Amino acid sequence: MELRETYHNEHKDDKAKKGLNYYDTAGFLRGLKQKEEYKWLKEANSQSLQQALMDLDKAFKAFFKGVSKYPKYKKKSNRQSFRVPQFFNFDAGLLYLPKFGKGIRMEVHRGFPRDRVKQLTITKTPTGKYFVSITVDDREEAPQKVRMTNDPDKTIGIDVGLKYFAVLSNGIKIANPKYLQKSEKLLRSRQRALSRKTNGSKNRDKARLRVAKTHEKIADQRNDFLHKVSAAMTKRFDTMVIETLNVKGMKRDHDLAKSISNASWSRFFQFLKYKAEKQGKNVMEIGTFEKSSKTCHACGHVNKDLTLNDREWACGNCNTHLDRDVNAAMNIRDFGLKAMGLDPIPSDRGEFKPVEDPLTAELAKMRIRAGSTSHDPEKHEPLQQPITAEAHAL
Ligand SMILES: [Zn+2]
Repeated sequence: MELRETYHNEHKDDKAKKGLNYYDTAGFLRGLKQKEEYKWLKEANSQSLQQALMDLDKAFKAFFKGVSKYPKYKKKSNRQSFRVPQFFNFDAGLLYLPKFGKGIRMEVHRGFPRDRVKQLTITKTPTGKYFVSITVDDREEAPQKVRMTNDPDKTIGIDVGLKYFAVLSNGIKIANPKYLQKSEKLLRSRQRALSRKTNGSKNRDKARLRVAKTHEKIADQRNDFLHKVSAAMTKRFDTMVIETLNVKGMKRDHDLAKSISNASWSRFFQFLKYKAEKQGKNVMEIGTFEKSSKTCHACGHVNKDLTLNDREWACGNCNTHLDRDVNAAMNIRDFGLKAMGLDPIPSDRGEFKPVEDPLTAELAKMRIRAGSTSHDPEKHEPLQQPITAEAHAL
């Protein structure tokens, strides 16, 4: 890494060879292994080192193409991981890795076909736990995709926001889980406690561990929630239209609640995509739709005066009563339909239709709050509420 950086700095203007490639660094690695002070490299599994170089190579290639930022050093205190592409073995609950004499005891969470393992990734979490994730070739061909239609029962737009976890174009609003909000509160207080400890002290180490443990707990709870919601949605709908998340804007976000939500959404979209792939459903990404909340889905009129606090508004042009988030989700859905050459679904103006969607019941079984009322998720409300007539136009 250091070598590549130096080379890049020295050869920036050299068009013929701007940076070193994988083979250059691999050769350099062989050289290093011969030197006394780098003897420890020999102890590491050579495939993993090569793999690390290949990963680095990819990162640099992406950087030179201009698609990503300059690769960063891995921070030691954060999650560390390495890949093992070959020469590993499993036997009677033990994992054998190259250069590890003894087998390592392994707790298997899910069975896997041993003859189809492609590679392993070993991860060490900040709290000192080790995980091995096993990539298996499932030899399954992805099923044929269902056709995208403009049936509002089958094709939905999804708007993600801070008030609700997600709002769907059919009026269903999925609340953020309460237990996550609780854990996040705990995380904030533990982070504050950590910041008060003096550098290098034992208490600081303890406080840092507590923060890391809370992070892990949140990650587990969040993943569980995201898996459940994405599974229920792929089962229920044929096509899900989503906005591309503005990753650049997210990284600048220093607000904890927001940065956690950002991470959740991108993982949620990831889950949605691979679950849809497996079931022959469609996930369509439409790019970033800047005015999805401000544009009336019925007539296209843009309400420039809409503020973040306006949860509902009436269109100044066609008088349609709009729910902020559902309107945004409808715009996202219609944008996707138009992009596919399909007619957006005509809307009934003003008339209220309560939504009874099987998704709500499915999520309720998993203790996830969802419904079609414009209720405030901050208030403690029963799981399933009778639908009131204050809702949006459909
Ligand atoms: Zn309008």
